[in-house]
Amino acid sequence: MSDFYNKNVLVLGGSRGIGAAIVRRFAKGGGKVAFTYAGSKDAAEALASETGAEAIRTDSADRDALIDTIAGRGALDVIVINAGTALLGDPLTLEADAIDRMIAINVNAPYHAAVEAARRMNEGGRIIVIGSVNGDTMPFAGGAAYALTKSAVQGMVRGLARDFGDRRITVNAVQPGPVDTDMNPADGPMADFMHSFMAIKRHIHADEVAEFTAYIAGPNAAMITGAMHTIDGGMGT
Ligand code: NDP
Repeated sequence: MSDFYNKNVLVLGGSRGIGAAIVRRFAKGGGKVAFTYAGSKDAAEALASETGAEAIRTDSADRDALIDTIAGRGALDVIVINAGTALLGDPLTLEADAIDRMIAINVNAPYHAAVEAARRMNEGGRIIVIGSVNGDTMPFAGGAAYALTKSAVQGMVRGLARDFGDRRITVNAVQPGPVDTDMNPADGPMADFMHSFMAIKRHIHADEVAEFTAYIAGPNAAMITGAMHTIDGGMGT
């Protein structure tokens, strides 16, 4: 497979879960792949040696460090902004600082990363943010702040698609439903509850999200922009 042969690809938050599957997919496609991580050094190093991708420690909540890392990658062909956290619970008891950190990682970082990548991105480049079906729908209590972050991504995607369209850069969101990762394990206590909202009652595999993302990043998706692409087993229907 060589659909991303020699393409300069950066995945933010690539050490585990969906991001790691995306790193593997682009590396398999022949891309020159780098990825960031914050805390999971061992996982990042293992993935780097497995795939040949470069692992870079950069906390997405540190805006200046994030901008420096992106600037250091030169002219990107693809950036996938995957790094994210999910803080769920009673809004009356969740810590304000923890909520603000989630907003920094899930909202502020995608905006600054997308803009910084676009500064020197090659014509026809691809900016993809991993949002969530919870940007569209919030079928259970305790998800207001997380949903806020994923809805914010939608506005950014629509706006930046117009800002960068004259350079044929596309800007899109991929919006998963429940995906089997450390964040939301298929054998976790919430699994049956999640499945109760889905038409197809199973967790999504990270590889399925990676393949969908690769399509949006690929040559056949040149006219797909400013749009949200949901892969949720029917959770949001
Ligand atoms: P995981 O918690 O399994 O993995 C998160 C990844 O993001 C890790 O590689 C982690 O790196 C990285 N990351 C987290 N915070 C930071 C940070 N501050 N700076 C840099 N990297 C960071 O999550 P998932 O793979 O499940 O989720 C990935 C994305 O998909 C998120 O945006 C999430 O909101 C979204 N999503 C997930 C769903 C699910 O059901 N799993 C459903 C819908 C959307 P490290 O370990 O090194 O910190």
